[in-house]
Amino acid sequence: MKSYNIALIKGDGIGPEIVDEAVKVLDAVAACENLEFNYQEALMGGCAYDVTGDPLPQETIDTSLASDAVLFGAIGGTKWDTLPREKRPESGLLRFRKELGVFANLRPASVYDELVNASSLKPEIVKGVDLMVVRELIGGIYFGEPKGRDENRGWNTMVYTRPEIERIAHVAFKIAMDRSKKVCSVDKANVLDVSQLWREVVEEVAKEYPEVELSHMYVDNAAMQLIRDPKQFDVILTGNIFGDILSDEASMLSGSIGLLPSASVGAKIGVYEPIHGSAPDIAGQGIANPIATIASASMMLRFALGEHKAADRIDYGIKQALAEGYRTKDIAGFDAKEVCSTSEMGSIIANFAAKCKR
Ligand code: NAD
Repeated sequence: MKSYNIALIKGDGIGPEIVDEAVKVLDAVAACENLEFNYQEALMGGCAYDVTGDPLPQETIDTSLASDAVLFGAIGGTKWDTLPREKRPESGLLRFRKELGVFANLRPASVYDELVNASSLKPEIVKGVDLMVVRELIGGIYFGEPKGRDENRGWNTMVYTRPEIERIAHVAFKIAMDRSKKVCSVDKANVLDVSQLWREVVEEVAKEYPEVELSHMYVDNAAMQLIRDPKQFDVILTGNIFGDILSDEASMLSGSIGLLPSASVGAKIGVYEPIHGSAPDIAGQGIANPIATIASASMMLRFALGEHKAADRIDYGIKQALAEGYRTKDIAGFDAKEVCSTSEMGSIIANFAAKCKR
């Protein structure tokens, strides 16, 4: 039996509800694949501030770094919005990513066939969409110096170094090798010097992956093309702010923010989390969609632990639940046979995952 240590950071709002369902599904597949998961819970966000006065206690960093992977729910809520910036849950999360060195944010956006009608775009545009945004996560304008503001001016600096671009480009090309061998690098090289360097370095890294077809696109065009013809994309490689915006845009192709997983990975550890926030407006009501978190657990099995069979089981469980018409409230309007709670959806996916015959 293979045994893994998983740090569980449930967080705030719907975080505990959705992470509990992912654990339910993980335990179901562990039983089928002769795996054992040892969970260590750690606090982050508002709940951590309430207990320790710090949204990111050192213990959480230590527990995470001592684990094989981190499964994370979401943080934040209005209760903590008036705290000084460094005490706010979101500051804890940014610090967490930096401390763990998770420089690559992988956000797959695919459309489940059963939910093509849930997208705000026409079914023929979104059916079959399956792309991966590879976003640089701990550099660029969100972190560059100098930054600041006075009464009349605010300023930030978009800076990337050659090694930062090289390492994220390698991630994108390696992922493309396992997919359809296409990378589209998105920048603003017609205007920004930092983007010119980005493009140059990506071209150099591409030489190491001769099988992968590389194209470049300006970010404004990419925003338009994602809506016009999303199926032209496979792997989108981009920087922090462009990736932030484009991946949220891409998420809406699928129909609900409650469906999409993500992974933030670095040299030391990976953090697996839904792309959505803590949804305080629906917390505690048992109506949150747990699929994004369950799919994040599948990414964790695949990318961090190399447990592809167990990951396949989870992916099958999700697809099967949707194919049989089970829907949480956010997607209830689309071909639903039965509307179920957060916990019912977790149990249904766990059952299908356990029954999967590959
Ligand atoms: P949000 O993603 O939490 O919610 C946006 C909308 O989507 C809400 O109407 C919510 O009910 C709905 N929603 C989100 N997840 C859902 C799910 N699984 N099932 C069904 N519906 C779902 O974004 P927000 O409202 O802008 O932010 C709320 C809090 O979350 C804020 O404090 C914000 O800072 C924080 N946040 C945290 C993260 C994170 O932890 N990674 C990311 C984004 C926002």
